[in-house]
Amino acid sequence: MVPDTEFDVVTIGAGGGGYPGALRLARAGMRVLMIDPKGTLGGNCLAEGCVPSKAIREMAALAGTHARLAGDPSERIDYTRIIAHKDAVQDARYAQHARELAQSPLVTMRKGLARIRDAHTVTVDDDSGTATIKTRYLIVASGADVLIPSLPGAALCLTSRDLFRRDPTLKERPASMIVIGGGAIGVETASFFAALGSQVTILQRAAALLPGMDTDMVATLTGLLDPRIQIVTNADVSAIERSADGGMRVHYTREGAAAHVEAAVAIMAIGRAPVIPEGFAQLGLAYDRHGISVDSAMRTKLPHVYACGDVNGRLPLFHVAQRESLIAAHNILSGDTPCDYMDYAAVPSALFTIPGAAQVGVTRSLAATRSDMELIESVYDFHGDARAQIAGSTGGGIHLFFEPGNLRLRGGWIVGIDADQLVGEIGLAVAAGLSAYDLARFPNQHPMAAEGITQAARAIV
Ligand code: ADP
Repeated sequence: MVPDTEFDVVTIGAGGGGYPGALRLARAGMRVLMIDPKGTLGGNCLAEGCVPSKAIREMAALAGTHARLAGDPSERIDYTRIIAHKDAVQDARYAQHARELAQSPLVTMRKGLARIRDAHTVTVDDDSGTATIKTRYLIVASGADVLIPSLPGAALCLTSRDLFRRDPTLKERPASMIVIGGGAIGVETASFFAALGSQVTILQRAAALLPGMDTDMVATLTGLLDPRIQIVTNADVSAIERSADGGMRVHYTREGAAAHVEAAVAIMAIGRAPVIPEGFAQLGLAYDRHGISVDSAMRTKLPHVYACGDVNGRLPLFHVAQRESLIAAHNILSGDTPCDYMDYAAVPSALFTIPGAAQVGVTRSLAATRSDMELIESVYDFHGDARAQIAGSTGGGIHLFFEPGNLRLRGGWIVGIDADQLVGEIGLAVAAGLSAYDLARFPNQHPMAAEGITQAARAIV
């Protein structure tokens, strides 16, 4: 009998970077310990991220559709019902994860915080004290956490955690909201609450929303956002305070001039930062504020230490973390001789705004930064799309980018209906190396927006 302080693999964190690999390794016969203060699978994605925020988004978007098509004003939707739905989704997924764990007897879950002692030793602090664990392999998958700047009054702001965790702090839809930060979380949150009837101001330090994403896509999306969202770019927030009426006042400077805005609540959404476990530094491995350095096999410079998910700072998306976790598992199973590698070239990246937007692969604004890259762009406008007309949401369209000559699909972006679904189909075609000829021959489902992918290909062959 092996003692429960000795394992083949320990994962620090049981989110997307931790549990898929843990379950795969256990299936191959390895004894795995997952350590996470939540004591459950799912990490921050389920606790306060993608899943609960999309549960709110779904209801906000449905309210908007209802208002458009049935003339039912979205403001009437009861926010308590929205939270109840969100909490129920989280509960259902936690129950599902508990069953997965129960079906994997070689995986042990320990609720607590892990600290690294040396390359083969971690300690866990939990309710019963501190335990010392020995392991052959270590997967660091401690994720990322909300970044709070050291600004006066920053602690007065709510964060995505306060909005999306089970039994959240924010229980009522505020009449008005200030969102500090115009990245994905900020713009998504702004669009959910605007769709529900709140007046929202986004204060964005950069010159445009969503830096790093395709600039044409961002411009199209920005033009289609709810008019209840006021966007202030080049706004450098300097302080947050309570206003006389119990709301929030956020001070900022813009082009040298001081200004302020007031609203019922303020949300801090300036980004997330990797969580480096205590004791990691003594391993002598490279890391900085962006994360732990790994190669595409998820290896650090120590042969048996891997880092997966948001903590490695490569591409902080749940679906990337999952794939990276499996890559680490495969490379552990192949005896630390890599047999599996992460390909970041065709990863879908969706914005769950209302309407949505998404991109994958090489798009025009990315190609524009490379003089050797020429692309053929083909556009499908949703104004002529049957599904978009049926749903009463005809803004935006699908933009595909092909390589001249062989007409291989290199990337695409979508703004508008079903963007979050379409990006998967486009991404799969990019990953599989399909060309415009392949796409054009495929009789895509009518009357669905995916027809636009086929039509965009048919337009050039
Ligand atoms: P990812 O998708 O990259 O796995 P998440 O942030 O969703 O990232 O999940 C990471 C998990 O790791 C979270 O549940 C977090 O609480 C947990 N975690 C962070 N630091 C530690 C630590 N020192 N010990 C154990 N778990 C940790």
